[in-house]
Amino acid sequence: MAERNERHRGIFLHARDTARGDRIATFLSEEGIFSLFLFGGPRSSLKSAAMPYHCADVEIYHDRRTEFLKLTGVEIVETFDAIHGSFGQMQAAAGAAEFIIRTSAFGGDSAHAFRMMLSFLHEVAEMDETLASWALDAFLWDGLEPLGIAPDTNHCEQCGRPLFGLQASAALYARGDRGFLCAACGEMRIHNGFPQTAIYRLAPQALECLRSLGEFHFSQAAERLASSPARDSLGSIIELLAEQAAEGPLQALLLLHDRRILDR
Ligand SMILES: [Zn+2]
Repeated sequence: MAERNERHRGIFLHARDTARGDRIATFLSEEGIFSLFLFGGPRSSLKSAAMPYHCADVEIYHDRRTEFLKLTGVEIVETFDAIHGSFGQMQAAAGAAEFIIRTSAFGGDSAHAFRMMLSFLHEVAEMDETLASWALDAFLWDGLEPLGIAPDTNHCEQCGRPLFGLQASAALYARGDRGFLCAACGEMRIHNGFPQTAIYRLAPQALECLRSLGEFHFSQAAERLASSPARDSLGSIIELLAEQAAEGPLQALLLLHDRRILDR
């Protein structure tokens, strides 16, 4: 059959209205990430349901010849309304959604992306607004793992020397790298002309904070990041790695940083 009706449970990540008043919604389910078309006008109850961060069971008409997907029914499961009440929480949710879209659901692992997004929304909706941007950093860090590009926090990416233990000194991160450098390799990089301003130095405790993030729920990971003396460096490093994975700047991060500057 060239066309069929399908049902999926998932999360609306993004919605865009066309000039004609129709809507294209990006929907993440365990089975994949879909662009769903909704006609405007009389089907407006569908439009109000197909809003970012609503978790829903949807019915889709799928024309397999043209790969056209039309949303024909929505049953809302959860709406996470609290997120819409705060700029920080909104941008955290938007950043997580943007990262999932830009990495095609972590390179095709949509089941993993769906589970992570759902628990992220649950936690962000309950979270103190000031922690939301740190929770987003924790989400981005965790997202590097299913993408297969989580940096090795235990060894220097250049010489392989351990970055932990009694002998551990500061580790360095050079902008553009995919991993960390031991102090010797880092200093050598600077000696060879790598700009100082593009280097982040991390004390062993800061690297330890990063190493342990994945063991915690997003809200706890956010608290650990926010309370680290190296939080600004850690946040920047995570965001640089995430933007490498997304192959460009993430809009939500640009907006959040404007806000972080105003908060100070
Ligand atoms: Zn090294």
